[in-house]
Amino acid sequence: MKITDVKTHRLRYPLREKFANSRGWSTSRSAQVVEIATDNGFIGWGEGTGEVNRSAVENHIIGRSPFNYGAICQALFDDGVSPRAISGIDIALWDLMGKALDMPVHQLLGAKVRDKIPVYASGLFCKDRQDLTQALVDEAKEYVDLGFPAIKMKIGFGAAYDVKNATAIRRAIGDQVLFAVDANCGYDVGTAIDVGRKLAHNDLFWYEEPLPTDDVRGYLEVKRAVPIRIAGAEGLAGCRAFRELIQQRALDIVQPDISIAGGFSECRNIAAMAHANYVRVLPHMWGGHIRLAATAHWQATIPDAPDVLHPIPSLFEYDMTENGLRTELAVNPIQAVDGALPVPDAPGLGIEIDRDVLKKYAV
Ligand SMILES: [Mg+2]
Repeated sequence: MKITDVKTHRLRYPLREKFANSRGWSTSRSAQVVEIATDNGFIGWGEGTGEVNRSAVENHIIGRSPFNYGAICQALFDDGVSPRAISGIDIALWDLMGKALDMPVHQLLGAKVRDKIPVYASGLFCKDRQDLTQALVDEAKEYVDLGFPAIKMKIGFGAAYDVKNATAIRRAIGDQVLFAVDANCGYDVGTAIDVGRKLAHNDLFWYEEPLPTDDVRGYLEVKRAVPIRIAGAEGLAGCRAFRELIQQRALDIVQPDISIAGGFSECRNIAAMAHANYVRVLPHMWGGHIRLAATAHWQATIPDAPDVLHPIPSLFEYDMTENGLRTELAVNPIQAVDGALPVPDAPGLGIEIDRDVLKKYAV
């Protein structure tokens, strides 16, 4: 089996209603889909966040077997291709290997340790609404009614906004639902500690990205000052970018994104480093359906740590915002049922791409 072609599809989906995290407003969603064809008729799909230049494709991918994934990704990296771009290639190569062997990717990764992954509803963004607090409370209650065991809201809009809205949501959802907050790197150390202490009475499961990702010392200060698990690192690319945060244990929960960090191959390296340092891994997921499928295969193979009678659940980030690139791209989308995501068992990523949707949202 030899690779004969590599294509990139750049997709954009315009939002009906804009929303904001602490960094700014979003009016559209995007995805970079990689399509790799082989001489025996298989198509592998990947999703990355950067593009591989044509000469790197010709020099390192065309004519090789997908089973050379390690050597291919290393050659791309040595040639200066970013892990963000390698992510899409690596995911497509694993999809091809699974299809060639008639096995799901989670099997190739060493087998899933769970058949379904509990999900958390990732939403509760800032919106342009008259009574935003009531709108957030209604949205949170809807997630609980749908059976989600956990939810996450966006904070980082200042202590007054964060405390008022997080407290209203916790009061509305009761004390049985896990509740996390995400500041999207919106604070400095002093503000992060102040806000964290003011929010702590809401029994928060984690406090995500209070600071810019590279502020390792700052994360250690926040972690020691605030009685909430600290999470982060969704934007880091390549396993070495995670070294200091993991080895210094500046995070309780590390959140690699499979389409940013470098695909299955690099995420396994990051998970191994986290495992060796007793840091929990809960992948980040924010993108199209290929990214969702890839994340599900990888996350299904991450063991509970520690392995106990009642482990802390491995929670899948289930994006509740509007995005046709996630909801329309697969003919057979993977969807959460009763608060858990079933892990696909069909070959490769286990999804079939709708080419009409690829065309519809092409840039
Ligand atoms: Mg986040």
